[in-house]
Amino acid sequence: MPELLEIETYRKAAEPIVGRTVAVVDAPDDWYLKGGLGPPEVVSVLLGVTITATARIGKLMLLETDGRTIGLRFGMTGRLIINGDAALSDLEYGSNRDNPAWDRFALRFTDGGSLVMRDPRRLGGVELDPNVAKLGPDAALVTLKPFGLILAGSGAPLKARLMDQARIAGLGNLLVDESLFRAGLSPERPAKSLRPDEITRLHRAIRQTLKTLGGRGGSHTGDLQPARMRGALCPKDGEVLRRTKVGGRTTYWCPHHQR
Ligand SMILES: [Zn+2]
Repeated sequence: MPELLEIETYRKAAEPIVGRTVAVVDAPDDWYLKGGLGPPEVVSVLLGVTITATARIGKLMLLETDGRTIGLRFGMTGRLIINGDAALSDLEYGSNRDNPAWDRFALRFTDGGSLVMRDPRRLGGVELDPNVAKLGPDAALVTLKPFGLILAGSGAPLKARLMDQARIAGLGNLLVDESLFRAGLSPERPAKSLRPDEITRLHRAIRQTLKTLGGRGGSHTGDLQPARMRGALCPKDGEVLRRTKVGGRTTYWCPHHQR
């Protein structure tokens, strides 16, 4: 599933369309349009608007225009294709076969060029003026104090709290497992059980994970990643990793150094 880092790659890839004016809106898939608008309304609202900026909050990508804001969600298998080029050519998260039948939404611009969302499983979606107030602060930007408050209020397992997009936005399964691995914290600890020094350590680990894995090319490039298989050993200390479900997601963690 694309996480914060992949969506940021998409956002950067979309920068060349800033300043372009929409000439054609392809919205062939009713299901893919969220927020109660059907294809005719979306087409009429977006025709002729100019893209003024790209933005991102967590896993939500935004295209600002001189009219409405366009929200793009990529779900498990969504990809972004700008001017015919896939923004991530070897995305881990879905089939890379180029099948135009999977094109769920497209904008074509007056001076050429295009933005296409290709999504085999249709788990993503497009929404006008998405309610960003439903999202917590972006995981790459949240500062230590609000981060501590996000954890303090919850008896949920630490991992589940970190994946709750309404509390902190952008972290998915791989980024959370890697951050907890680096911070040396158990994913099963109640979020509110963390001491101040542990909160600081986790906040720093998330920042470092985003920076390092962003530089390496995505959420799937973590130090823990090669050990995400049954019976694998901790890359740090050689202990047999645990494989459990936390927050409904398969979780790999080390019972020796993650406490
Ligand atoms: Zn370990």
